Amino acid sequence: MSEKDYKRYLEIITRHVYGTWRAQKFWREPLLITGAEGVYIYDYKGNKYIDFSSQLMCVNLGHGNKAVIEAICEQARKLPYIAPGFADEVRAKTAEALLQIMPKGLECFFFSTSGTEANEAAIKMTRMYFEREGKYKILARYRSYHGATSTSITLTGDPRRWWAERARCTIQGVRFIPDSYCYRCPFGLRYPECDLVCARYVEYMIKEEGNVAAVFLEPVVGTNGIIVPPKEYYRMLREMCDENDVFLITDEVMSGWYRTGKPFAIQHWDTVPDILTTAKGCTGAYTPVGITATTRRIRDYFEENVMCHGHTYAGHPVALSAVPAAVREYKRLFESGLPQRVSEHLKKRLYELAEDHPCIGDVRGLGHFWALETVRNRKTKEPFNVKADKFVKPLMNDRIASEALKRGLYVVSWYSHLLIAPPLIITEKEVDRACEILDEALKVADAEAERTDVPPSMSSEGVVY
Ligand code: PLP
Repeated sequence: MSEKDYKRYLEIITRHVYGTWRAQKFWREPLLITGAEGVYIYDYKGNKYIDFSSQLMCVNLGHGNKAVIEAICEQARKLPYIAPGFADEVRAKTAEALLQIMPKGLECFFFSTSGTEANEAAIKMTRMYFEREGKYKILARYRSYHGATSTSITLTGDPRRWWAERARCTIQGVRFIPDSYCYRCPFGLRYPECDLVCARYVEYMIKEEGNVAAVFLEPVVGTNGIIVPPKEYYRMLREMCDENDVFLITDEVMSGWYRTGKPFAIQHWDTVPDILTTAKGCTGAYTPVGITATTRRIRDYFEENVMCHGHTYAGHPVALSAVPAAVREYKRLFESGLPQRVSEHLKKRLYELAEDHPCIGDVRGLGHFWALETVRNRKTKEPFNVKADKFVKPLMNDRIASEALKRGLYVVSWYSHLLIAPPLIITEKEVDRACEILDEALKVADAEAERTDVPPSMSSEGVVY
């Protein structure tokens, strides 16, 4: 691309297109990307960058997957669109593919085009289901993101909700339960002596609130910390939801699609939710699809009652055509053994980074889903930035990410941590290169971190012992 074209495109985009989640003045010079292949993205000058966060934790199969692209092209030629009221081959094949990998018991699907919409459908279905009993409240967590619409942003605990609340863009009937965040336990306790008070308190809330319809959470928290709860957590939640006739809804928009090593993160806990929502990796981000998967019991309720929800693009054939192809590609990839091997290597390399950099307070995650939580002081766990800094102050983790970008590594940063979530096709060698770059980039934070004799906290199960 010529310098002239580059300048023209950038001028048009930054003048006429909205940048997401930011004051527009902070979107003056986005990197112009012209191509992507494997684990790399390429800018207009031909510079390459390792994509160490799979873009927005969605390009799980890597860039340029030929099988998925071919499936999309074939569908575009055959039948690009048909209204949701008709039946078509690709919808049947998508449902069939999903039945192979969904937790047993989740067998009815509503299709949309984003994670936000998948969650919106889940909430509407739940509230319609419990309408006669007058149960409508949803319990969600602070460390969470569930989407951008008024409903899904209300369930969200991260700073994006604060801005939506200020503008009166939220709904009624959402309450927040404590996070199962062992590194910074909200009760100041340690596992296992804590006796999982974070889970037990949920039952107290269900009983006290009286009209709770659902507990809604990310089984492994994504953007807000790659937080993995202790092993008993979901069994306890499942039991209390059953006893109180409350739905357990898991948002696997980010944690799904083998990101954690299993098709869906909740499968690490042998728990089946009443509703599972997902998007992102279901097509490897080649097309936009959201999925709301429910039990037969919920579908049965809507035999007589109106399922009053839908979209023009519900079950869009071109969008869905990527799903069965992606399911086959994930299967093929895991049969090769590569992701299983590389995830162990990734963990080892991240632990090594944590040892070497005083700015890393905690490293946690599983599979290809990790957080490096940065701190100014490991002993006191004083962070560089807090939640309230997001959108209004320069963030240390953004500085680290920008140092990494200069050196050829794209990594997503949040106010408290860096999100390490590479495509599942990444090799050991590519992980090594990415970690070498991070090793350099982290020095900007080391320079402002206090040296202590406290080692970093590390856990692959999320629990800090
Ligand atoms: N839920 C979770 C857990 C997410 O991570 C996201 C997006 O990052 C969403 C919902 C919203 O999905 P989308 O951006 O596709 O609307």
